Amino acid sequence: MTLYPHLLAPLDIGHVTLPNRVLMGSMHTGLEELGDWRRLGAFYAERARGGVGLMVTGGIAPNPEGAVLRGAAGMFGAADVANHRQVTDMVHDAGGLIAMQILHAGRYGYNPDCVAPSAVKSPISPFAPRELDEAGIEKQIADIAAAAARAREAGYDGVEVMGSEGYFLNQFLVTHTNRRTDRWGGSYENRMRLPVEVVRRVRAAVGPDFILIYRLSMIDLVPDGSSWDEVVQLARAVEAAGADLINTGIGWHEARVPTIATSVPRRAFAFVTAKLMGQVGVPLIASNRINTPEVAEQVLADGCADMVSMARPFLADSHFVAKAAAGRAADIAPCIACNQACLDHTFAGKVSSCLVNPRACHETEITIAPTAVPRRIAVVGAGAAGMAAAITAAERGHDVTLFERDSRVGGQLNLARQVPGKEEFHGLVDWFAGQIAASGVTLRLGHAAEPEDLAGFDAVVIATGVRPRDPGIPVAGATQVVGYADVLSGRVVAGPRVAVVGAGGIGFDVATFLVDDGARVAEDAAAWKAEWGVADPATSRGGLALTGPAPAPPARAVTLLQRKAEKPGKRLGKTTGWIHRAHLKAKGVRMLSGVQYGAITDEGLAIVRDGQESVIPADTVILCAGQEPEAGLAARLAGTGREMHVIGGAELAAELDAKRAIDAGMRLGARL
Ligand code: NAP
Ligand code: SF4
Repeated sequence: MTLYPHLLAPLDIGHVTLPNRVLMGSMHTGLEELGDWRRLGAFYAERARGGVGLMVTGGIAPNPEGAVLRGAAGMFGAADVANHRQVTDMVHDAGGLIAMQILHAGRYGYNPDCVAPSAVKSPISPFAPRELDEAGIEKQIADIAAAAARAREAGYDGVEVMGSEGYFLNQFLVTHTNRRTDRWGGSYENRMRLPVEVVRRVRAAVGPDFILIYRLSMIDLVPDGSSWDEVVQLARAVEAAGADLINTGIGWHEARVPTIATSVPRRAFAFVTAKLMGQVGVPLIASNRINTPEVAEQVLADGCADMVSMARPFLADSHFVAKAAAGRAADIAPCIACNQACLDHTFAGKVSSCLVNPRACHETEITIAPTAVPRRIAVVGAGAAGMAAAITAAERGHDVTLFERDSRVGGQLNLARQVPGKEEFHGLVDWFAGQIAASGVTLRLGHAAEPEDLAGFDAVVIATGVRPRDPGIPVAGATQVVGYADVLSGRVVAGPRVAVVGAGGIGFDVATFLVDDGARVAEDAAAWKAEWGVADPATSRGGLALTGPAPAPPARAVTLLQRKAEKPGKRLGKTTGWIHRAHLKAKGVRMLSGVQYGAITDEGLAIVRDGQESVIPADTVILCAGQEPEAGLAARLAGTGREMHVIGGAELAAELDAKRAIDAGMRLGARL
């Protein structure tokens, strides 16, 4: 008897039966543009072997003007068919099913040739789109249908027509982006004509026995978005036009509501798909922030959908489904929804990976093979880098001992998990602890390793991490001055007025901790929706609350400071920084840049800004001024002739994060 009877049940969609209810949602990996199709094939084949029911590729353009950026991968002709054939062959050899997503970006194209229903520039692209005429619209439809036919020729099992997230098809649906007065604009019947015609023509191009998924924006999260009646009308029309499955799209890319970040509660948007259940005959797929078999099973058991889409969880663990089916859910590497190595990479033009699993999209580069020469290896420090190195080396057959001076594993991850909105880090630390036990690593907690402890080992890995930088601000009064670790660990409770010195990732985390006062925001969907102004789309267009966002009042008055003149939070994650800035702004946090620090006195923190002296009134000053390497042990071992590897923060503290630490640990473990 499986623990996940709904999730693992087959789904018969007429011409094909999917082995289970799990769809690997579309993700751009960056491999699509490298020209190394076998590497892309290896990425999907690994996931096919992991048991996922059906996979959808990253968005593939139907024509150059529809590309997300110039040079983005497309399905334009015979050469593309031959390239994609390599991918589909590898997937089929691995026993999987794969559909190609056809993505026409419209006005979202970072592309001077971009086209749209009307010449309304998007806030997320510097290029104004060209308004299409009748012939231009016909060309787009024909190109999309031709791309679908080529996908079939290339061996795909289906296509997903991307109709959500504010892309081209979605742009026809709402009056903000569709100002036309011809048969493609005006009434809703006219505005939905293009998406419906696209589905009809795609079906005609691919024949009846080919999977056709339509991704439908069920809650636009933008002003003047679709009404719920329009969503239902469109769903029925795309079903009649030939869609086999309807997948859920949540929010346009320009929406000012987070939709997939770690602070978004799990399954926060399943309620939207649930509203559409029973309104159409084809199976519906729920999406967004579904990241464990338990959550996925519950979404299905609750009748919210017929199938679930998970994308990033398959970067974190390619064998998600197989492990769930084998009753090994605790072994599934959890996607913590950080975006740090996936979406942030995509927006930086880099190949995707995963913070938790650096092998993602690098399957052919990082191989973890059994060692020919097992050795005794000591790893010092059970933070992210040390844990990753120890687990990887042990998996390969080395005899590994992991020393940690604290009474538990996790290092800095134990601080991150205390931050409201970062609750997913609890699961990450638990997973690491489970992997350490399962891989046979000898764990010595509460033991600060000294050189003599390391004498009998063949190699030593120094992963001792970082220590906080003392910014050297003079203290001349009774105001409480503490480090960030004191506050996040709960050793110190800050007063009602707080000045935070340093506005990097940790300064932002600490400010969040202070204003939210321990609330587990990502576990309270109602409070989260109120804060961001998310409503039932049946009561307001686009699902934006008519009363606007209503955040809970802050627990403290917080001022966040930095010396640099730039906007605080500018260097936070590309796709998540705006969420942190918006959250703190909503909580009334004062953010000051370009400050010089004076002294900490009885009144608070003296500063000079724009030549003006002032005092930030504060009961507590919290130092978040970056870190320095904890390199004492490495220095003591240097010159002893021992084989020593220094990784993570102990090697370089600047810009250290869990992504770099885990990557360094795994790569070292793979070659020791
Ligand atoms: P950080 O990002 O380097 O920020 C350090 C802050 O301290 C900066 O605001 C810096 O700004 C200030 N500072 C540096 N030297 C100072 C000095 N001598 N006196 C006063 N202020 C000083 O470091 P962090 O905040 O400690 O974060 C460490 C790493 O963890 C970073 O790489 C960060 O990206 C990562 N992290 C990421 C997240 C995330 O959500 N992705 C969250 C937490 C941490 P000024 O020099 O302008 O004053
Ligand atoms: Fe998930 Fe973060 Fe990995 Fe992306 S980088 S797949 S969000 S854990």
